[in-house]
Amino acid sequence: MTSPARELLRRIFGFPDFRGEQAAVVEHLVAGRDCLVLMPTGAGKSLCYQIPSMLREGTGIVVSPLIALMQDQVEALEQLGVRAAFLNSSLTGEAAAAVEARLIAGDLDLLYVAPERLLTDRFLHLLDRSRIALFAIDEAHCVSQWGHDFRPEYRELNLLHERWPGVPRIALTATADAPTRREIAERLGLQDARQFITSFDRPNIRYRVVQKDNARRQLLDFLAAHRDEAGIVYCLSRRKVEETAEFLRSHDIDALPYHAGLDAGLRARNQRRFLREDGVVMCATIAFGMGIDKPDVRFVAHMDLPKSLEGYYQETGRAGRDGEPAQAWLCYGLGDVVTLRQMIENSEAGEERRWLERRKLDTLLGYCESTRCRRQVLLASFGEDYPEPCGNCDNCIEPPRTWDATVAAQKALSCVYRSGQRFGVTHLVDILRGAENDRISQLGHDRLSTYGIGADLDARQWKGVFRQLVAMGLLEVDVEGHGSLRLTEASRPVLKGEQTVALREESVRKREKERGVRGAALPAAPLAAGDQPLFEALRALRAQLAREQSVPAYVIFHDATLRAIAERRPDSLDALGTVSGVGAAKLERYGEQVLAALREAETA
Ligand code: ADP
Ligand code: ZN
Repeated sequence: MTSPARELLRRIFGFPDFRGEQAAVVEHLVAGRDCLVLMPTGAGKSLCYQIPSMLREGTGIVVSPLIALMQDQVEALEQLGVRAAFLNSSLTGEAAAAVEARLIAGDLDLLYVAPERLLTDRFLHLLDRSRIALFAIDEAHCVSQWGHDFRPEYRELNLLHERWPGVPRIALTATADAPTRREIAERLGLQDARQFITSFDRPNIRYRVVQKDNARRQLLDFLAAHRDEAGIVYCLSRRKVEETAEFLRSHDIDALPYHAGLDAGLRARNQRRFLREDGVVMCATIAFGMGIDKPDVRFVAHMDLPKSLEGYYQETGRAGRDGEPAQAWLCYGLGDVVTLRQMIENSEAGEERRWLERRKLDTLLGYCESTRCRRQVLLASFGEDYPEPCGNCDNCIEPPRTWDATVAAQKALSCVYRSGQRFGVTHLVDILRGAENDRISQLGHDRLSTYGIGADLDARQWKGVFRQLVAMGLLEVDVEGHGSLRLTEASRPVLKGEQTVALREESVRKREKERGVRGAALPAAPLAAGDQPLFEALRALRAQLAREQSVPAYVIFHDATLRAIAERRPDSLDALGTVSGVGAAKLERYGEQVLAALREAETA
């Protein structure tokens, strides 16, 4: 026997089964109890309140901080034939009044509303006259002061409980860190609510860290394997965002810039294009991303180091919400470490905060330089134990080799010392390699005892040595001295030969290699060549349908659904209806056109 919830899941959403904890959450909420849901991006949190809103009498009220997000969710629900609407400042007075009338008439399963609107007297009175199925508080970490998404209005959401004690509440977040979770429960009065927590692993994301030598070239090589795919390229500064977007455009890549300094209209247009069109690459600062729930973002590339490993997890988490293979690519070099250290030390923040920032940076560097499975390192930083190496990160696919670098480290450290701890890595490498240039001779550095003692390694290898020594704390960056390197307490035992140093070999970078790796171990089998034309035909149909209704393509069908259709080649509406992602409403709306497109492509 199927439960009413599962029946809805199949008929409306076209999904054969619940995932993970979804069924348990739905049941709990339908029974009228509160809960806190902690699941990673892409786990399927929305269904957890959408289905109970449909099953319980009245309207599910969803508090959501972002206007763009509400609109997308409502469009997707309407496509499924669900009665949904939103209320926010983007609506005209007339349109808002119509939505309010539907609410009172009991003509809505779901209503999305911004917190500031929810908290107005007018809206609270409106709710008094309506039947409420439940309250869902999305992006619940906005209640936390420590997160970067703090929204003061979220603090007042407590009143929902006081005013409507009988209405169940569900708070949802993808935040992984424990203090924020505790704060959410406390602030929203959910200490006694049941918590549903799943692993924060994102198995379909492949993590990769590459050592920077020519970042733009490396980015182009990376993107070559992602033609016509949507992705985000994060940069630290606004200027770099714009330059990178321009550079990519000059190489025929449909890239757009996004940062807080751009005109609001342009920003909104760029975001809209990214969401609605296929294959747009967004170059952005971290101002971009929260609430971007485009499911088919295929990669997130970082041209600079993020500020923390938690930040990195959130930013990369925007890739692959649809569960299809996705890439997280980080390009990093010593220069990044210098920049971030300078930002920390020169910031206005108090010493305590700076100490915290330093620790965060060290954790991040630990991740970058690790020779272990990246997923294990990442999840361990949230206190989650991932027992086996994942097989889907660079370190698992091509285990890095380490070498005994004790002698090289000694040479590097003594070179820093002999030259007076006043120089940056380029000059230090010149000394070690015995370079002949004006600067060396002017400074008399060709007379140092370390001059030319490092000819056995090339410049790139030496840079790698210095970078790793900094990451390990064996050297520190002098932030006032424009990135010159100094010894630390920890350098001494190495110099004295009391401690050995193992370093990872710098990877050799070949373009072929990048592609080879990508094809080798993708979690989802690629489409058979014979199915490809069908898939393309379906994509074209989807694009046309999306354009006609001016909704994002993924709202019509996800890639995974199109792929399944191309593979199974259903020849009747009944057969098409069994494909995951094809619910009753979509079958009725698009079924005939899909079948016609298949027939046409097959006879072509
Ligand atoms: P979250 O809010 O947790 O980031 P979403 O609710 O946006 O995740 O869901 C992520 C994706 O997974 C969506 O494309 C959704 O349609 C899909 N999905 C959710 N639940 C299921 C399920 N039970 N079976 C198949 N797909 C699902
Ligand atoms: Zn791994």
